[in-house]
Amino acid sequence: MSGGPKFEYLWQDSAVPEYKKPTALPAPTYINLLMDWVESQINNESLFPVTTDVAFPKNFTNVSKKILTRLYRVFVHVYVHHFDRLMAIGAEPHVNTCYKHFYYFVNEFNLLNEKEFEPLKEMTRRICVDKPLPKVQHPAAAAARRPEEDL
Ligand SMILES: [Zn+2]
Repeated sequence: MSGGPKFEYLWQDSAVPEYKKPTALPAPTYINLLMDWVESQINNESLFPVTTDVAFPKNFTNVSKKILTRLYRVFVHVYVHHFDRLMAIGAEPHVNTCYKHFYYFVNEFNLLNEKEFEPLKEMTRRICVDKPLPKVQHPAAAAARRPEEDL
């Protein structure tokens, strides 16, 4: 899947013999595999526990980062290769809102490697102009730290 002249995304899935090695695929195939893979990840109850008595796995953050990284690449492909179509159907403001929501979220929690933003860097600089909110101490995080302070 292409992300513009400088970026080519290869599909890899160690659970599928065919895709053990990073493989070049047309975007529709890549995106179909990607969405199926994301679905299988988020429906995996050992990765995303559905009850409070089951702990999140140690690799939860890494799996989440991988999911978000792969989803971001779909934005890249759509913006780079299909922006004219988005304009034609009047979807641009909706996709931009969706992108901004995604961008601010992954940025706030450092969920994407900086290099992933490269293909859309200029566009992001233009449309994501809101200043980040001041970091607010989450009450749960503050409560979790309190016992250490009592030592
Ligand atoms: Zn395409």
